[in-house]
Amino acid sequence: MRHLFLYLFNILFFSNLLVAQNDTTFKYHAPLEIPLVLSANFGELRPNHFHMGIDFKTKGVEGQKLVAIEKGYVSRIKVSPSGYGKVIYINHPNGVTSVYAHCSVFLGEIDSLVRLTQERNKNYEIEIFPSSNEIILEKGENFALSGNTGSSTAPHLHFELRDTKTETALNPLKFGFDIVDEIAPQINGLKIYSVSERGYRMKGKSKNIAIKKGQFGYYIGGNTAIISSDFCTEQGGIGLAFEVTDHYSQATNPIGIYGSYLLVNKDTVFGHKIDSISFESTRYINSHIDYEENSLNKKKYQKSFRTKENNLSFYNHNDLGIIFISPNDSSEITYGAYDAKNNKSELKFKLKVLPGPLHSPVIYKKEDYLLPEKSYSQKSELCVINIPEGCLYEPTPKKIQVTPVLSIANASTPIQLPIQIKLPLKTNTVPIEKYYIAGNSTYLPTKFSDGWLSTECKFLGTFSVKFDTLAPLIVPLNFSAKDSICKKKLLTWKITENKTVIADYDLFIDGKWYLLEFESKGSYAYFHVPSALKDKHSLKIITKDACGNESIWEMDMSF
Ligand SMILES: [Zn+2]
Repeated sequence: MRHLFLYLFNILFFSNLLVAQNDTTFKYHAPLEIPLVLSANFGELRPNHFHMGIDFKTKGVEGQKLVAIEKGYVSRIKVSPSGYGKVIYINHPNGVTSVYAHCSVFLGEIDSLVRLTQERNKNYEIEIFPSSNEIILEKGENFALSGNTGSSTAPHLHFELRDTKTETALNPLKFGFDIVDEIAPQINGLKIYSVSERGYRMKGKSKNIAIKKGQFGYYIGGNTAIISSDFCTEQGGIGLAFEVTDHYSQATNPIGIYGSYLLVNKDTVFGHKIDSISFESTRYINSHIDYEENSLNKKKYQKSFRTKENNLSFYNHNDLGIIFISPNDSSEITYGAYDAKNNKSELKFKLKVLPGPLHSPVIYKKEDYLLPEKSYSQKSELCVINIPEGCLYEPTPKKIQVTPVLSIANASTPIQLPIQIKLPLKTNTVPIEKYYIAGNSTYLPTKFSDGWLSTECKFLGTFSVKFDTLAPLIVPLNFSAKDSICKKKLLTWKITENKTVIADYDLFIDGKWYLLEFESKGSYAYFHVPSALKDKHSLKIITKDACGNESIWEMDMSF
């Protein structure tokens, strides 16, 4: 019977594979059983990434039922103290994978498989890839409860749809979930840049223009933005960026827009529409927005032009979006922003360039600059630096110092790809495994070989050798050392590490391993007391940091 069922299931499953994943008439079941209210949408601008899914509110609490949006099988389960926390991936017959992150509790077969794997590996952190016939879910079937695990800061469901084959994240709002939105995006600011022919911003050549909202929509004072002639260059031109936010009808928090367009004298020059984003390209957000403006003023200006290297696929124009305009000339500009329900806002103005000389030509020599299209290496007895091609977003002055500490450009300059750093270990007053490389004073995972410490990281700044000989601190949180009789169903501890990170944590009762859950945010450890646990037992937690410093907490308790 089971075989026949599986056979039929597979036929049904795979015959549907060709249902186009972008078919918006295809109707999924809602992922929650409560009314759908969003607190974040797809493509929202986050640090170093676009938001790759949508966030559903869960009425401020954990424990809402999560249900399958379509029949399918559980293809991946991960439990981690950070990131997505407890997360489930379900592969559906139409070639789409749904992802439910930050769960609190897994149910049924998923829960059994996770517990079995944790017990076998003696580890809370696990990742399982069940086969297509192991855990099958029906459309609307409840398989887990919503939560707040991993890097989530308040209870919610982070929900993603991905193309199963490529793992590219798809915009869930294009799949017909019932979400009310009648509010158009809000255009808050305009910024004008002088840019090179490759879309790089000329240093010190930008201007912020205030946007006003009136009876007839958005406008700027005098309806004209005026810039000096030295914004224009021989081969380059002008780039525009807009600060724009949106809201949903039912929620007050700001969300991102779905798309934009830029018209110059009625011709479309640039635009974007966020239907999908690949995980390989999501970090290009650092080039999509004015990164420095965001670091300094917390304002996210989205550029309506791009650099030649920016490989985000959601721009709907082949050109770079540069406006070619000469001194003593002007152009009519129309900028529009819209959300997934096609609520739209527009800004129209005249861009006027004053008469005068052009910007003097800028040549980016590789002797003076770290360049996006060039790799860079340096090797001496003091350090090894490897910066791959495609790492920098724009030419960056090559300020590299080796002594007294290694310093590469500025910590505020973003990069796309990891750089490799090696530093020699010259003194060893403590055992070798206690040493690590710190980047901008934070611990970096470090390897040691042949007298060299090596690491990789995705930022620039200062790098130095440090060591850690201090063990983590384990402190009971919801009980004290005097509580010899346990009255709680959940015991919690705070495990604090000062210099590096918590690498391992285990709970033993009378020498036998028990599951201890851990959350990196707040550094909390949890033990769900099994109802079968009775009488007096000795509890012991052993924890280690990344440099192998170990601490032990012990206590006898009656249950
Ligand atoms: Zn999210």
